Amino acid sequence: MARPYNFSAGPATLPEEVLRQAAEEMLDWHGSGMSVMEMSHRGKEFTQIIQQAEADLRELLAVPANYKILFMQGGAIAENAIVPLNLLGGRATADYVVTGSWSAKSFKEAKKYCAPHLAAGSLSGPWHAVPPAPSFRYSADPAYLFLCSNETIDGVEMFDLPEAPAGVPIVADMSSNILSRPVEVSRYGLIFGGAQKNIGPAGLTLVIVRDDLLDRASPLCPSAFEYKTVAANGSMYNTPPTYAIYIAGLVFQWLKRQGGLAEIERRNIAKAELLYGYLDSTDFYLTKVEKPFRSRMNVPFFLRDESLNEAFLEGAKAAGLLQLKGHKSVGGMRASIYNAMPLKGVQALVAFMKEFERRHG
Ligand SMILES: *Cc1c(COP(=O)(O)O)cnc(C)c1O
Repeated sequence: MARPYNFSAGPATLPEEVLRQAAEEMLDWHGSGMSVMEMSHRGKEFTQIIQQAEADLRELLAVPANYKILFMQGGAIAENAIVPLNLLGGRATADYVVTGSWSAKSFKEAKKYCAPHLAAGSLSGPWHAVPPAPSFRYSADPAYLFLCSNETIDGVEMFDLPEAPAGVPIVADMSSNILSRPVEVSRYGLIFGGAQKNIGPAGLTLVIVRDDLLDRASPLCPSAFEYKTVAANGSMYNTPPTYAIYIAGLVFQWLKRQGGLAEIERRNIAKAELLYGYLDSTDFYLTKVEKPFRSRMNVPFFLRDESLNEAFLEGAKAAGLLQLKGHKSVGGMRASIYNAMPLKGVQALVAFMKEFERRHG
């Protein structure tokens, strides 16, 4: 039987091929007689798994040699604290661009460690756009410039990276659009992302950090969260989330088989154009995010008659279209169409939406 299409914002759908491979290897990974979950993280089998995962990620994102790739835990929300603990380096402030619920949360958390400066955007929603870069107002000596490249809840994506003041590293929360298109890693000081949106299972946080930023940590930073310590120990200062790393590694190999990030971006554009194109063609549904900032990954939309919401969700579920309910802070619906969502899934969603409109419009 065909699996339903799952539009969850995260933990999110994974490529079926990857799930099948994991199922096949569940009891016995490559003749080792062990499940990956049962292996010592320091043994030769897991060493091979983590090294391959890192090499594949480095290749996919073209990560330069002077950047470390760290496999950490705590999710993106923990990074909101781990970043200032590691990067403030005694400075009193860092600049934040707030374009949605997640970067607003990052700003608030930073207040525990410094006096963050709002360089652009707004601390309260609704958020429907990224402010134009010339309007950004930087502070005199920020430790870094923080931004969120894709606001998962609000559906606001940043396609043009602002120019930070000279010498100020850009820190990006890429949790929900990492690996959805090529990015120029060298323009960032640090990239982080929870894995459960576009990479793999929950429990793994990816951090890509430039070498020269490893020496700034506060003495109060927990050792397990100190980038320098994690890097020096090959992400094995503490036991890493081994199974999540293994699945992420399978997803990286799947991405390479699809043709890498340029091909994945082409598909993501096609999926997003199909869905937004339909939303623009009807008055029955509406979207609120301004066109240049419409996320290719998370598409919030609304039924003009909200009394039909329950019927929409029930009908969608019966049609094999799962988890379309919008985030409670935004309401309405949200279709998350990450890398692992095939074009066929979006076609099925649009077909259902048309039929629902025909019956209720
Ligand atoms: C999901 C998400 C988070 C929160 O991730 P956790 O793993 O729950 O910490 C933060 N930022 C963005 C952009 C997200 O999509």
